[in-house]
Amino acid sequence: MAAGSAIQIPSRLPLLLTHESVLLPGSTMRTSVDSPRNMQLVRSRLLKGTSLRSTIIGVIPNTSDPTSDCDDLPNLHRIGTAALAVQVVGSNWPKPHYTLLVTGLCRFQILQLLKEKPYPVAEVQQLDRLEQFTNGHKSEEELGELSEQFYKYAVQLVEMLDMSVPAVAKLRRLLDNLPREALPDILTSIIRTTNQEKLQILDAVRLEERFKMTIPLLVRQIEGLKLLQKTRKSKQDDDKRVVAIRPNRRISHGSITEDEEEEEDHDDVVMLEKKIRTSSMSEQALKVCLKEIKRLKKMPQSMPEYALTRNYLELMVELPWNKSTKDRLEIRAARIVLDNDHYAMEKLKKRVLEYLAVRQLKNNLKGPILCFVGPPGVGKTSVGRSIAKTLGREFHRIALGGVCDQSDIRGHRRTYVGSMPGRIINGLKTVGVNNPVFLLDEVDKLAKSLQGDPAAALLEVLDPEQNHSFTDHYLNVAFDLSQVLFIATANTTATIPPALLDRMEVIQVPGYTQEEKIEIAHRHLIPKQLEQHGLTPQQIQIPQVTTLGIITRYTREAGVRALDRKLGAICRAVAVKVAEGQHKEAKPDRAEVGEGEDCKEHITEDAKPESISDTADLALPPEMPILIDFHALKDILGPPLYDMEVSERLNQPGVAIGLAWTPLGGEIMFVEASRMDGEGQLTLTGQLGDVMKESAHLAISWLRSNAKRYQLTNASGSFDLLDNTDIHLHFPAGAVTKDGPSAGVTIVTCLASLFSGRLVCSDVAMTGEITLRGLVLPVGGIKDKVLAAHRAGLKRIIIPQRNEKDLEEIAVHVRQDLTFVLAGCLDEVLNAAFDGGFAVKGRLEHLNSKL
Ligand code: ADP
Repeated sequence: MAAGSAIQIPSRLPLLLTHESVLLPGSTMRTSVDSPRNMQLVRSRLLKGTSLRSTIIGVIPNTSDPTSDCDDLPNLHRIGTAALAVQVVGSNWPKPHYTLLVTGLCRFQILQLLKEKPYPVAEVQQLDRLEQFTNGHKSEEELGELSEQFYKYAVQLVEMLDMSVPAVAKLRRLLDNLPREALPDILTSIIRTTNQEKLQILDAVRLEERFKMTIPLLVRQIEGLKLLQKTRKSKQDDDKRVVAIRPNRRISHGSITEDEEEEEDHDDVVMLEKKIRTSSMSEQALKVCLKEIKRLKKMPQSMPEYALTRNYLELMVELPWNKSTKDRLEIRAARIVLDNDHYAMEKLKKRVLEYLAVRQLKNNLKGPILCFVGPPGVGKTSVGRSIAKTLGREFHRIALGGVCDQSDIRGHRRTYVGSMPGRIINGLKTVGVNNPVFLLDEVDKLAKSLQGDPAAALLEVLDPEQNHSFTDHYLNVAFDLSQVLFIATANTTATIPPALLDRMEVIQVPGYTQEEKIEIAHRHLIPKQLEQHGLTPQQIQIPQVTTLGIITRYTREAGVRALDRKLGAICRAVAVKVAEGQHKEAKPDRAEVGEGEDCKEHITEDAKPESISDTADLALPPEMPILIDFHALKDILGPPLYDMEVSERLNQPGVAIGLAWTPLGGEIMFVEASRMDGEGQLTLTGQLGDVMKESAHLAISWLRSNAKRYQLTNASGSFDLLDNTDIHLHFPAGAVTKDGPSAGVTIVTCLASLFSGRLVCSDVAMTGEITLRGLVLPVGGIKDKVLAAHRAGLKRIIIPQRNEKDLEEIAVHVRQDLTFVLAGCLDEVLNAAFDGGFAVKGRLEHLNSKL
């Protein structure tokens, strides 16, 4: 042991605080490090340092409560052990941590703490010096006697052990060879002692004191061993195996480890083996596991591979190889669950029921994988959850957004530290059954990187022909995924890799209309929010007009997520009022202000303002519901976010409203144009894609060629529109990239307005691709676009004639609110876009279809 005078420890030491155990000089200890301070020490000192000195650290037993190991440095124990870090092993599973193997050198005392962050460093004084012990002024005889007594007990103890075991024999030899002064520390760490006792030995700086304190411990151990030997004789058979395994490991530890820990570890390995043998894993997996456990038994614990192998085996045992839930599929019940959980979305529910019905009839899982595509917050995830509920299966969501490494799906090979299984296998471990519903969320947001293409890895997972033998790199044996029901969600199909898309059946989930949103809010969102905030309907009332107000003035979205958040904000505000025991109505005339009939309906007689206003001061418990009206909305949510009237923006020539489709749903888009003196240049702003720029050029060319026909002139009255004129086209919301051909008709209308000086009708929106000859071609996303126009309160929508069929998908009440103009050519578009039509010399055909 190295506690001699030859070693002079550095005068400044970084401090490692250990909770679990106390390190004594001359012994070796493995400790797991996961607190930020200790991790930082390992990273910047042990992993970066190159000299031997940098591997010497101070180990201080942390006597404070481990749970309070937060930012502040606890009161440090003044005495610690300088130690040599022999080995550092890092692992990421189950959470990032390092395992350190440290050997104690000598005691030291903290003189002064030099810094606390990122890890503590202290100026220290070395306490144990060999020369001092031997040549010191201690009464030699007394110490000699004490050490002799100690030595005798130590020999007695060791000889009670099985001397045929090499480690025991080695320990016996060490007793003779080591300097006596080192023995108390070493033996204390070998025998069964509590941390408190070890701490006392550590604090016993004087050798004499140390000898005195350890002798009773030795005696206690000897007595304990005597007792044990008596009882052991009766059941020797059982224990032979334990003894046979334990010494092996002891050798590898350089003879010094903690008894207790070792015994526990050993028991764990035996338990693990038992678990492996009794688990229902596949034959191939069992073979691999038995081989690994054999290796594990022979492996010294200090080897990095030991922890890896053990983690691996524990995972293998935990995986649900054969455990599944029983499907209870009954279509009628499924319909009820789906209807109860979700309002509207009829098409989606119909398709899901068909899918489930087929599964009920044909007990075969090789169906297509459903992929719900739609804007955020339209209930894709929650339908997935309902499907799991109807089937009585476990549900697990795997978020794929931003995943760019194929080992996220398939796992890391076990060859390096920190390797982990992929998300599929991890998910199976979490749910604990092999037939859950897995929701692969945001498949359209998978990314590629140097670490491989995760989409390619998903192909295997989703292919019913292959996934019965899915091989995760970490497991390295096949796992049967064929019982798992996969459902995917995405915002758009455009970015889903084609091969992946091919494996899935896409079901479009469009956004909701205002009426649907109101129903969803009152049937689902409000009750859910009330429950989450511990409120009851007797405490808060949100009339439908208020909900409509939130939808139109505070949110602009296809789904209901922002609406849900706003309702949450209202509930929080009300919860504060209720909790305060105050129940005041701010303004007495509030409930009466023209919020329509609905509002009044919800006010009970005794909830009339005057009866409430004074009760607040009496701090009575709230008995009357708090009514959320527009004033309350303004107080809680602030001024309305979206109350700009569309017509306000259309009060000058050169502005038109287009309809755009984005993965977040439909949106209305203002297109603005202005002209100025110049040389015929066209400037486009608003982050436009190439296709959109081409549309703008097409529009200008068409208008130039038809300028005479429509009496369009530039500022100087010439039909050559670009003569001495520059045009600037801008698409507001410049931060968002826009592309696609569907703005063609809007650009033409906007420019026609600019050159004719006439205003475009304020209630009309349009979409459609144009050709050079003035035809209007069909575009996609009509349903979302129409819903967006409806949300914005527009009345007339110009769409390409060939998109007529798409109108059937739109709810009847939305169609009734709107007038659709089906345009085959630009003449028709311009005629519908301007009040009183657009003057043209020649034929004029106006197709105005009201659906
Ligand atoms: P997505 O996965 O499409 O982004 P979520 O499934 O997370 O959306 O839905 C957001 C919230 O809206 C959930 O709380 C969900 O219950 C609710 N929700 C969405 N659509 C409906 C609906 N049709 N009926 C009831 N609640 C809905």
